[in-house]
Amino acid sequence: MTAKIIDGELVASRIRDQIADATEKMAREQGFRPGLATVLVGDNPSSRQYVRMKQNRCKKVGILSFGYNLPEESGQDEIEDLVRKLGNDPKIHGILVQLPLPGHLDEEAVLNAVPLHKDVDGFHPVNIGRLSMKERNPLFVPCTPAGVIRLLEEAGAQFEGAEAVVLGRSNIVGLPVAMLLIHRNATVTVCHSRTKNLPAVCRRADILIAAVGRPLMVKADWVKPGAFVIDVGSNRIDDPQSEKGYRWVGDVDFDEVKEVAAALTPSPGGVGPMTIAGLLQNTLQAAQRLEEHKNSGG
Ligand code: NDP
Repeated sequence: MTAKIIDGELVASRIRDQIADATEKMAREQGFRPGLATVLVGDNPSSRQYVRMKQNRCKKVGILSFGYNLPEESGQDEIEDLVRKLGNDPKIHGILVQLPLPGHLDEEAVLNAVPLHKDVDGFHPVNIGRLSMKERNPLFVPCTPAGVIRLLEEAGAQFEGAEAVVLGRSNIVGLPVAMLLIHRNATVTVCHSRTKNLPAVCRRADILIAAVGRPLMVKADWVKPGAFVIDVGSNRIDDPQSEKGYRWVGDVDFDEVKEVAAALTPSPGGVGPMTIAGLLQNTLQAAQRLEEHKNSGG
């Protein structure tokens, strides 16, 4: 079997086109554009790069972006005050606090300062709490997990009654993905560093999500023939053959697994583009909701 390759860049570009149309319509008919504030603390190069990519994408779809870069040694109060100020700014519809924050800061308290209706990353404790409960809808779903589900839908995966295995239990990927799968009536197993006999557990999966941060860990004999496999992993490995001396790979051994799976995402080019598209989508939605709220006299 050769897997259908799920092209995340293609799906994300369709979503971005729809967002661009909607923001133009908003500007034309309502006289404003959605605004996203990014809060970056410190100079972690990866975080700086992620924030830059998000700001560039905003520009391309007609979302205004407002960048706030604070020094590494910033205090808790300073950051929370900034986030609260942005929460009261009518030009700003979404607030993204780039994680991880430097170790001396209380991440949860900062996220708590983001008003729920501007929590476009979906990491506010209340939104995460609602995601983790039955029949309680969060205002926003975290972007990477939402992208995973969208790619499975695009590939035609059936969720109802499926055996799903999620490799990884982080707050930003593994756990929210597991909740989204449960809400779609899959039977979900979540694996982590203490799971025994990982290959055998993974082999049970009709839907396998890899989010561990271990390059090429998932091999062909970990995958049930005909499974849908989503590779969230994004790992830099040394590669003396490449010009830069390194390349990016996922958690799944793509060349092996494509011979077994029914459908598979590449990495890069799978979940990554969906994460930013999801953020843009949530920002547009935040702006639309605020406008509806104003028009209803709220
Ligand atoms: P974390 O490091 O926060 O979590 C990794 C999880 O994998 C943990 O639950 C850990 O277990 C588990 N794990 C680690 N090693 C093993 C192992 N050998 N066997 C079994 N389980 C293991 O990572 P993230 O969730 O933040 O990210 C995962 C991957 O996804 C990374 O490559 C990251 O770069 C990528 N990523 C990609 C995004 C995108 O937009 N494409 C967005 C976010 C992340 P334990 O809990 O026991 O420690």
